[in-house]
Amino acid sequence: MAATLTGSGIALGFSCSAKISKKATSSSSSSNRCCIKMSVSVEEKKKNFTLQKSEEAFSAAKNLMPGGVNSPVRAFKSVGGQPVVIDSAKGSRMRDIDGNEYIDYVGSWGPAIIGHADDEVLAALAETMKKGTSFGAPCLLENVLAEMVISAVPSIEMVRFVNSGTEACMGVLRLARAFTGKEKFIKFEGCYHGHANSFLVKAGSGVATLGLPDSPGVPKSATSDTLTAPYNDLAAVKKLFEANKGEIAAIILEPVVGNSGFITPKPEFIEGLRRITKDNGALLIFDEVMTGFRLAYGGAQEYFGITPDLTTLGKIIGGGLPVGAYGGRRDIMEMVAPAGPMYQAGTLSGNPLAMTAGIHTLKRLSQPGTYEYLDKITKELTNGILEAGKKTGHAMCGGYISGMFGFFFTEGPVYDFSDAKKSDTEKFGKFFRGMLEEGVYFAPSQFEAGFTSLAHTPEDIQFTIAAAEKVLSRI
Ligand code: PMP
Repeated sequence: MAATLTGSGIALGFSCSAKISKKATSSSSSSNRCCIKMSVSVEEKKKNFTLQKSEEAFSAAKNLMPGGVNSPVRAFKSVGGQPVVIDSAKGSRMRDIDGNEYIDYVGSWGPAIIGHADDEVLAALAETMKKGTSFGAPCLLENVLAEMVISAVPSIEMVRFVNSGTEACMGVLRLARAFTGKEKFIKFEGCYHGHANSFLVKAGSGVATLGLPDSPGVPKSATSDTLTAPYNDLAAVKKLFEANKGEIAAIILEPVVGNSGFITPKPEFIEGLRRITKDNGALLIFDEVMTGFRLAYGGAQEYFGITPDLTTLGKIIGGGLPVGAYGGRRDIMEMVAPAGPMYQAGTLSGNPLAMTAGIHTLKRLSQPGTYEYLDKITKELTNGILEAGKKTGHAMCGGYISGMFGFFFTEGPVYDFSDAKKSDTEKFGKFFRGMLEEGVYFAPSQFEAGFTSLAHTPEDIQFTIAAAEKVLSRI
């Protein structure tokens, strides 16, 4: 649904019960874009902004689930206040249980790239559901999604579907170790690869190469083979290879970082990683759980023209249902059981519902103009917010690629996690809460990327920029 700026009022409804005018805004599908003119002014809307029901529900949740949530960042701890409890989502909008509506730039943390609850995806799911929700046996839909993924992603010749990004990264690391017969691997500070033991290493300054665990419960033995380096620091990677000659199985990285805010790689960095891994008999793994089908149809590897040996995927390929995948060179993938000896399995892996949502999401994304549209609106959004920051005297920097963006409350430039940590997180918290009141839902942390979708309209973007200017001028 689109918001229409109408001088005195802005549309923020997605029930489509008000006056609706369908309006295509790009060459991509417009099924989720409709504009609703509402008579509620911004001032009136703000007066009505209450989170009473969310607060009650969240208080109850805290007695039922640790921290009241099933994934930590949802608890709003780093921005203060309580989370809004969501009732429904459609297109670019989410609505909470108090009836407040938000233009959503989280998109379920990435999957909602064609908009929430897309009509075609919902219809396909309804059809699939009639035939059953899980078989624990091969189904044709797995072939369809596998073919789509293989033909889209340059490095993938064979793929294994799992149920989350965490599982994909766990599996791919085991595979890299099995294939190379080596146990050490390199990850980068501030990159997240799910919550498997080996990846939970924060690697702050003094302990950068010691591989100390980042969470109680992770045994030291599980992270003792995890080597870490600052992102964009090729020299540090070279040193690790020199100090651990013949022992490194792989380098894994987010080819564009989303988990310490939005950070892009220097071209010489990823080119260098490709070269170093080749020269040292190690594998290069792109964790494209976030960037896959988001930066381009073929992911970051297509965007940058660098082909890794192995790739992990998640989020978008499940179209909002739980999916992950890992894939890569055929000779490596043939090590995976039952083709080969490396064991990995899953009761619900490749289930028909997740495959269906993935297939229909990718179908939409493969249409001409989609990534151009994402790029256009995300550029407008990012530049608009940064311009608003400049006008109102805040030190800010940021960037975007296609439908992924981010901004930091620091002068910049930001090349790695330690640069990102120079951000004024308190100010981000104020900005975040101000934007929420204005009807805009950003990720509740300075250290998360933002996502646009095909359902975001130019009016959504203009509204967001105007709201940002308002909030930035009062914080
Ligand atoms: N890798 C990356 C790059 C991610 O962004 C995430 C999740 N944000 C994961 C892995 C883990 O995925 P999941 O939350 O589905 O387990």
